Amino acid sequence: MINLTSIDITNKNLVMRVDMNVPLKDGIVLDATRIEACLPSIEHALKNKAKILLISHLGRPSEGNFDEQFSLRPVAEHLSKIINQCCELIDSPESNKIFNTNSDIQLLENIRFFHGEKINSNELGLKLANLGDIYVFDAFGTAHREQASTHSAIEQSKIACAGLLLEKENNFLTKALNNYEDPYVAVIGGAKVSTKLELIQHINCVAKNIIVGGGIANTFISAAGFNVGNSLIEESMIGVAKEILSDGKILLPKKVITSKTFEGENIQEKFIEEIKNDDMILDLYIEKDVYEILSSSKTILWNGPMGVFENKLFEKGTKDISEAIAKSDAFSIAGGGETLSAINKYINSDDVSYCSTGGGAFLEFMEGKILPSIKALNAKDKEG
Ligand code: AMP
Repeated sequence: MINLTSIDITNKNLVMRVDMNVPLKDGIVLDATRIEACLPSIEHALKNKAKILLISHLGRPSEGNFDEQFSLRPVAEHLSKIINQCCELIDSPESNKIFNTNSDIQLLENIRFFHGEKINSNELGLKLANLGDIYVFDAFGTAHREQASTHSAIEQSKIACAGLLLEKENNFLTKALNNYEDPYVAVIGGAKVSTKLELIQHINCVAKNIIVGGGIANTFISAAGFNVGNSLIEESMIGVAKEILSDGKILLPKKVITSKTFEGENIQEKFIEEIKNDDMILDLYIEKDVYEILSSSKTILWNGPMGVFENKLFEKGTKDISEAIAKSDAFSIAGGGETLSAINKYINSDDVSYCSTGGGAFLEFMEGKILPSIKALNAKDKEG
């Protein structure tokens, strides 16, 4: 993979695919983390007198229509403020303003407004690739999607390279995937086993222990033969959960927090043997053995909350596991939207070795898959 810093970009026109899919309300950016994550590549390019056309998606608009609520205008305005220069919004890839005005930095309207993005159209890919001299791919969060701006444009560009964020994600995640130090421990929480099954299966082959939480733990508790009452579980995953349990790496919670409702009616602490038919397991206790495992591990992978942490009544497990990971000397890597919001809520993110900006892309990378955009960048490197 060619990196942005290893090629001469002076006076070149860079088409840069970024992930600026940020939460918005009333035209205001609510959380600018993803915009800020793109700054190293943007600043490097501007410092080297290159011109930039940024490409990003935002939300899920229907293709072929402009829809104000999915416009990137608030993102262009926010970016202009933080880089202290005007980022011009461009309405279409056909616009003759592209690289043709006084602006050093432009942002194309939501790429998902244009026909062909979703189906990885060669026509749109070629159009994007031909807009500039170099295609820079820096959108790690969408690197698992085979779409025109994340795949076809890379393939059809004259020169394609990885931006600084992609390079950093690739380096840290590769270390956790291939060059990790044992003992390796994974903390996997969140709602459903099915969305993380491939990750759990992969981790089950390499990790010493897997600490489970959330709805995922409920499914394993049920597969182990305990009553889980009204708790969120996935019936269809019980068979596969039993198989994974038989390898002996999953650490089930011993004590949990139950309620009759999500709002917190009749909250009780219970051992998993004591769950009644009308109980819901909404949080768990981190046991002494889990603290010991985390403090003696050399590598920790974390994805997913331990309970319904959005509600203060059920945040203890997620808060305690965050603090234990922050205290550990292990190389720790975390990813996923809910996981990063727990980190921001309970600990200093600098106490985790690396926080990935990816959700789906993070999971697929850590399952050992080669992401389509990375595959296309590698092929381009070999071609060149
Ligand atoms: P995920 O996106 O798969 O990481 O799932 C995150 C969501 O799982 C969060 O919104 C949590 O509220 C939810 N969650 C965590 N633990 C539980 C639980 N025990 N029961 C129901 N939902 C849960």
